Amino acid sequence: MGIVDLSNFLSEVGRVVIVMSGKGGVGKSIIASSLAIGLALKGRSVAILDADIHGPSVPWIMGVENGYMTVDSDGFINPIEIENIAVISIELLLTNKDVPLIWRGPLKTRAILEILSRTRVGKRDYLIIDMPPGTGDEPLTIVQHLKNKIMGAVLVTVPGELVKHVVTKAEIFLKELGVPLLGIVVNMSYFKCPTCNTIHRLFGATSIMNENIIAEIPIDPLLAQMVSSGKLIDYLKGSSSTAKSLLRIADSVANMEAQK
Ligand code: ADP
Repeated sequence: MGIVDLSNFLSEVGRVVIVMSGKGGVGKSIIASSLAIGLALKGRSVAILDADIHGPSVPWIMGVENGYMTVDSDGFINPIEIENIAVISIELLLTNKDVPLIWRGPLKTRAILEILSRTRVGKRDYLIIDMPPGTGDEPLTIVQHLKNKIMGAVLVTVPGELVKHVVTKAEIFLKELGVPLLGIVVNMSYFKCPTCNTIHRLFGATSIMNENIIAEIPIDPLLAQMVSSGKLIDYLKGSSSTAKSLLRIADSVANMEAQK
């Protein structure tokens, strides 16, 4: 695949943070969106790119799925803006959002990078990328195109026996690409019974003791409900302990700003 020229786009963006996972369904899109919202609530200007175009994705979580990115006569694309966050997603160019994009990986990645190269993002402190799951060709291509601007990666995982394996694999992937690991988020870490306050570790213990763990997020039915109705922003503005844990991810990243 030829190289897409992202220099124009990237000259507007201060730092890129990629959010990755070993596999799908671990809450990566929620964590990426929470990081974007958390940084915006701290006064940073933020854009979020949905590079994982399967399943309920960033536009839904951010509650902008009914909007459209407009295309100007010069071919440049305007992202959708919500709470000072620019949302960039192929979904926001589609007129029928129920039709799945049946594209092979390289074409999909190419389309995402093309869109990025033509997006009028404006000056942003951060670009957060909700990456395709895994450590395959698609995340690799995206990282190669953005490399100079990547501050680091946040790795999302769930507890259980395979965690150690997933984390090691991602660490090797990042090391080979020269991308720092900013932190690991263990999602769906436990469930706290609302009546008796007992903590249930449904997926087992975290099985890794890793100094890179920056947040442990419980299973929270209200979070799932708010996300499916596009209200993550409202949820994070609330006072629940889970909301606070999710916002701590942005605190950790902001505290590492000096790194790059
Ligand atoms: P991924 O991006 O890794 O595929 P998503 O962010 O789309 O995963 O989340 C997958 C599903 O799991 C969503 O339906 C979401 O609401 C649910 N989910 C994720 N994290 C939590 C959590 N901490 N508590 C409750 N539900 C969650």
